[in-house]
Amino acid sequence: MNLKSLIRDIPDFPKPGILFRDITTLLCDPQGLRYTIDILAEKCGNLEMQVDCVVGMESRGFIFGAPLAYRLGSGFVPVRKKGKLPAAVHRIDYQLEYGTDSLEVHQDALTPGSRVLIVDDLIATGGTASATAKLLEKIGCELVGFGFIVELKDLQGRKHLPDVPIISLVEY
Ligand code: 5GP
Repeated sequence: MNLKSLIRDIPDFPKPGILFRDITTLLCDPQGLRYTIDILAEKCGNLEMQVDCVVGMESRGFIFGAPLAYRLGSGFVPVRKKGKLPAAVHRIDYQLEYGTDSLEVHQDALTPGSRVLIVDDLIATGGTASATAKLLEKIGCELVGFGFIVELKDLQGRKHLPDVPIISLVEY
C-alpha cells in the first residue's frame, strides 16, 4: 500500500514557509490505518528486545502508540506537555528553535529497567524524540528503539537520537 498517497501536504502551516505533512487523511482511511498499525507492529515486533511499554508523545504519538502497544501486548505510557498529567511527574526541559518546552511523564508509570519503545507520528529535527529519550534514560529505562510513521530526512533528526533501531514507514 502507498502510505504516502494518504498523507496530505499543507503548505504554510503552522507558519509561512512550512510544508506540513498531515496524517489525518491517513487516519480516516480504514485500510490505510489498519495497514499502518500492522506494518509498524510487524517491524517493532521484530526488534531484538521485547517491548514492555510503548511511550507516545502528545498528541499524535498517542494515536499510533496505543494501538501499537495493544498489538505488541505491551502497556502504553503518554508523554505530555507541561501541566497536563494529574499525578507526580518527571520533567525534561528542551530547546526549541525559539525558546524552550517541557515534556512530562508520570513518576509511577515506568520503572528502571523497563524496556521502552518511543513512538510518534513524525520525526523532523528530532528534538521531541531526543528529549523523550533523555527523560526515559533519566528514569533508568532501557530504550528498545523508535517508531515513526513519517521521517523528514533532510532535517537529519535521527542524528540526535541514541544508537538504537529507528523505524520509519514513509520518508520525505
Ligand atoms: P521535531 O521535534 O522532530 O522537530 O518535530 C516532531 C514533532 O512535531 C512531532 O511530535 C510531530 O507530531 C510534530 N510535527 C512537526 N512537523 C510536523 C508535520 O509536518 N506533520 C506532522 N503530522 N507533525 C509534525
